[in-house]
Amino acid sequence: MTLGFNVLARDGAARRGRLKTAHGVIDTPAFMPVGTAATVKAMTAAGVAATGARIVLGNTYHLMLRPGAERIAALGGLHHFMNWPHAILTDSGGFQVMSLAKLRKIGEDGVTFRSHLDGSAHLLTPERSIEIQRLLGADLTMALDECTPYPSPWEAVEKSMELSMRWALRSRRVFAERPGHGIFGIVQGGVHPDLRLRSAARLVDIGFDGYAVGGLAIGEGQKTTFAVLDATVPALPADRPRYLMGVGKPADLVGAVMRGIDMFDCVLPTRSGRTAQAFTRRGTLNLRNARHGDDPQPLDPECGCPACAGYSRAYLHHLCRSGEILGAMLLTTHNLHYYADLMVAMRRAIENGAFADFAAAFAEAQAPASPEPNG
Ligand SMILES: [Zn+2]
Repeated sequence: MTLGFNVLARDGAARRGRLKTAHGVIDTPAFMPVGTAATVKAMTAAGVAATGARIVLGNTYHLMLRPGAERIAALGGLHHFMNWPHAILTDSGGFQVMSLAKLRKIGEDGVTFRSHLDGSAHLLTPERSIEIQRLLGADLTMALDECTPYPSPWEAVEKSMELSMRWALRSRRVFAERPGHGIFGIVQGGVHPDLRLRSAARLVDIGFDGYAVGGLAIGEGQKTTFAVLDATVPALPADRPRYLMGVGKPADLVGAVMRGIDMFDCVLPTRSGRTAQAFTRRGTLNLRNARHGDDPQPLDPECGCPACAGYSRAYLHHLCRSGEILGAMLLTTHNLHYYADLMVAMRRAIENGAFADFAAAFAEAQAPASPEPNG
């Protein structure tokens, strides 16, 4: 193993750890802002780092199509290209091929598809996915998998999971070991505990630097997500990081950390920042709502971010209603600060052996006194 990971404290199943990569140390539980096209939307790299984030996610599918992995490699790699000196995790491209590409066809070898940008034909195999992620210079590489659509019959989920496990082995075989770099396998198996356990066992047999739980937050609901974690996480090695892909809402993060997850990514804080939604310690706000138009308070009085330090809800409301770019920038800044602060608070609670109390207080504070309608 060339990727250092230490669990520093435990509280129940929750872990507080430290992941050592070629581009710095990441305290876990950690949230990874999504930098789809070599940028976390509406943020400078320095602004992302200022939130406390020390790792971002890059998307193989987007970057292979534009500007191209070989071009980024020739320009010094993704860290240099996007001026992000900290760690980067890249996904395998599989999820977005299935959700964005046209005329996609899955075979044993890989996925053939046409670009959603210009219709050009591509083949993404496990070997090519790993090569692209190496060209980008990812600290953390993901094995290629197929994200099984939800809902699907058990037989279809089994077939898809077994294909993903064969791709996981091929991904692992071509991954080039380098100090501070690692490859994660991805547990699939839909909402079926028996398939999840079989998938986890297959990956542990192959041996990965970290283990991800994929194929969740695609419509199954939080209760089912948590049930899958309850079934899956105990089957993952205790000494390796665990990453829940594409999840989620603040309450999802708290519940998943309680079940032993160490890493997260989700577009929610950034996407919400561009649609006038703000996460706060007292629940979610819709800044387009007229009730904020005369409100001189900050978004969240307990937040130390630049948006809360310098601007009122009334001003942010005005920016959002006027379609000003600054509104998206400030709300994204705040939301990423909120997520980073939530991770700090969870790490502290685990260190103090007080995670259950933290989770209860969190749930109570998030329950809005008066639910705010959209619009
Ligand atoms: Zn703030």
